[in-house]
Order: sequence, then C-alpha cells, then structure tokens
Amino acid sequence: MKPVIALVGRPNVGKSTLFNRLTGTRDAIVADFAGLTRDRHYGNGRVGAREFIVIDTGGFEPTAESGIYREMAKQTRQAVAESDVVIFVVDARAGLSAQDHDIANYLRRLGKPTLLVANKAEGMQQGLQLVEFFELGLGEVLPVSSAHGQGVRSMVETALDLLPPPPEDAEDPDGADDGVIRLAVAGRPNVGKSTLINAWLGEERLVAFDMPGTTRDAITVPFEREGRRFELVDTAGLRRKGRVFEAIEKFSVVKTLQAIERAHVVVLLLDATQGVTDQDAHIAGYILESGRAVVLAMNKWDAVDSYQREQVERQMENRLSFLKFAPLHLISAKKRQGLGPLWKSIAQAHASAMRKMPTPQLTRLLQESVAFQAPPKTGMYRSKMRYAHQGGMNPPVIVIHGNSLEQVPEVYRRFLEGRFRKAFNLIGTPLRIEFRTAS
Ligand code: GDP
Ligand code: GDP
Repeated sequence: MKPVIALVGRPNVGKSTLFNRLTGTRDAIVADFAGLTRDRHYGNGRVGAREFIVIDTGGFEPTAESGIYREMAKQTRQAVAESDVVIFVVDARAGLSAQDHDIANYLRRLGKPTLLVANKAEGMQQGLQLVEFFELGLGEVLPVSSAHGQGVRSMVETALDLLPPPPEDAEDPDGADDGVIRLAVAGRPNVGKSTLINAWLGEERLVAFDMPGTTRDAITVPFEREGRRFELVDTAGLRRKGRVFEAIEKFSVVKTLQAIERAHVVVLLLDATQGVTDQDAHIAGYILESGRAVVLAMNKWDAVDSYQREQVERQMENRLSFLKFAPLHLISAKKRQGLGPLWKSIAQAHASAMRKMPTPQLTRLLQESVAFQAPPKTGMYRSKMRYAHQGGMNPPVIVIHGNSLEQVPEVYRRFLEGRFRKAFNLIGTPLRIEFRTAS
C-alpha cells in the first residue's frame, strides 16, 4: 500500500505549491465540504521510484475557536489522522510565527512521524537563518524550495524513511496473476456499496471462503463464482458485521484510493437518484490515473423515472467522457437487477487488463494501421513506425518503436488505440501507448 503524506502548515507557506510539485498536476482529488474555501486535496505523488499519496490541507490554526478556521483545523486533523507521516511546512522567509508554535505543539503531542520543512529557502544561507526553527522542538529543519524544486526529492526520501519498511509479502496488482480477480467497489457514501456487496454475497452461485493470512483489519473477502476466484479488497467506508456489510459514517478518500490501488478491477458505483456528482468525477479521475480496469454501475435505476433516466444518461456522457472505455451498467442492487451482466463485464475487464499481446501480432497490426492511414507529417520528417511490443499489463502498455515519433499527434495516437482495442477486444481497461524513437 502506498504510504500517505499529509502537508500541514499555516496559510501561505507554500503547501499547495509543494503539493503541485509532488503530484505533477493541478487536478487534485477534492473532498467536497460545502462552504470551505480550502478543502483537503488528495493526489498521487511520485518522486524518483517512490510513490505515495499526498494530502494537502488548508491553513491550520489548531487553536481556532470558531468559523471557517475551526472547520479548516478539523479538516487538517482528519488529514493528519489519515496519514502515515506529516510534513510540517514553515516559511523560511517569514520566519517563526506563533501559529507555527501552536501547530508544533499539536503535532508533538500526536507523536506521528513528522518532518519539519522550511519552504522558500532558495538562495538562502541556510545554517544561519533556519536556526530559529529548532525552537519548535521537532528536530532538524530541512530547507526546500517548492517553487524551484530544490530539496524536494530528499525531503520525500527523508519523510518516507521515517516509516517502517513495507511488509515482504506486499501485493503487486500490476504484475501478479495468481488467477484471483481483485475487485474493489468504489463510490460515495450512500450510493449502495454495501447493498451491492451483500446482494453479491447472498447469491447462490457465490461461495465465500475464508483465506488465512489476509491483511490486518482490512475487509478482504475471497469468494468463488462460476469457477472464477475473486477477492473483494477492503472497500472503503464499509465494515463487516458477521456475514453482512454495513456502511460506516466516515468516508475516507485515502481508503478509497488505496482500495483502487490494490484492485485489478474497480466497480465505480453511482447513484441514479443523485446523478453524476463532482466527487464521482474525482473518484473516476483517480481510477483512470491509477490505470485500473473499471466498470461503471449506475445504481438505484429502479428509483428514477424516464425523465431522470434521460438526464442521468446525458450526465454520464458529459461528465465521465474520459472513461469511454468502461462498460456501463444500469442496475438495482436492492432489487438485484442487472447483476449478471455486471459480473460478465468485471471478468471481461480483468481479462482485458491482463491480455497478452504477442509482438508479431502487434507489429502486423501496427503496419496494417499505418498502411490504412499514415501518421501526419509534423515538422521536417514523417514519423516512421517500425514495430510494437507489449510493455506491461494492468493496464496494458503498447510500446511503438520507430523514428521521429516525438511529435505523433494525439488524434493519431487515438486512432491507433482504437485499432489495437478492437483487435485485442480490450474492454474496460485503459490502454497506454508509448512511442520510442531509435535515434
Ligand atoms: P499555501 O497556502 O500554504 O498552500 O501556500 P501556496 O502554495 O498558495 O503559496 C503561497 C505563496 O508562496 C505563493 O505566492 C507562492 O507562489 C509562494 N511560494 C510557494 N513556494 C515558494 C518557494 O519555494 N519560494 C518562494 N519564494 N515562494 C514560494
Ligand atoms: P453505501 O453507503 O454506499 O454502502 O450505501 P448503502 O448500501 O448503505 O445504501 C444506501 C441507501 O440506498 C440504503 O437506504 C439502501 O437501501 C438504498 N439502496 C441501495 N441500493 C439501492 C437500489 O438499487 N435501489 C434503491 N431504490 N435504493 C437502494
């Protein structure tokens, strides 16, 4: 499981700048809380070979008594609770402030692994100016510049080194194929996750069995259905009560992200009575980014009339257009309608994500595609595509080798993707195409 880093500090010290640098994106997953100017933001971070989830928090004033600051402080406490390690950001230029002391006191009492970082330290004579931060009682302060990237890599390495090493038997959903389909059901609270899972587990064709040594407190349910082995990976926001599942109050974005990470196939559950919300779209975006196979299920189809149905279908098209490759099912978990076809799509998505594509066949397909429609000329040279091989599974990656492939336009990449998808019957999985130029 990816470790979780929370960025904490008072407003304006540069947390979001640091967040953007760590995630390489401005599109954060946002936990929606009405009326907040700054929410918690969640993103996938990667520095060198190290991957992690990073949470950006708003401004933190732990002693705030009322209003927006109190709400922000609550948000920050939750982010800290969800994290494995805290990066406490102070402003090297502004120097130490009273708020910094309050935050430090809070973090010290908590006892969570904490790294103190002084941002905006570019071009500063570190030794001298940073001495004052020792007062915070959090040990050495690490100078960084989020805006310029200095010190960020070693900051992440230092932070992650504060954590115990991951267990040896950590799962590797990217490579391992032990025949078990790891399945996660993701979705906002109340969309019907526990109803769906209980409907599944109540099916006659489904045989639940206990598997020894499954992880910690995680909800992991192995079962067999029509000769296929599945494992429900800890689905966020659910608790097991005997043989049934029930929703727990708090929705945890981190747990959702980790469940997605561990799964082969994610069922993204939506609520037809609510339509497609921002948070649905955020979760969908994360699934796409993680490269997982995905099946969309619009639940509570029994509870909407024909007018609402039409609206919901239009929303799906508009707001989830980036998941066009994912099959969509209109279901009712409560009435157990549409569940059979959903299983078919899950199996199909898994098979697609794990598809083996032999080099000769890929190369032949590539050559046929180029003959059908040559890549457009960009700049001085026309791209030459010579051969293709598979660069990975879950998601499948196709690597195309040739010359002058630096500027292959997006439309042409999509044209190739369509042909590969069709030829290998890839449904429900993202497909990545990479170009590699020889010279
Ligand atoms: P946040 O409120 O803690 O999220 O802070 P922001 O990321 O919004 O940054 C606050 C201000 O500090 C912005 O004007 C940033 O451009 C600036 N800033 C952030 N990082 C750096 C840095 O490394 N060096 C300098 N000089 N300014 C920075
Ligand atoms: P979770 O928070 O995502 O696990 O959602 P639950 O499974 O607890 O369901 C939330 C509410 O939606 C409950 O009142 C369910 O009875 C209801 N619900 C779940 N599935 C359906 C469905 O297919 N149709 C209708 N009409 N209601 C449903």
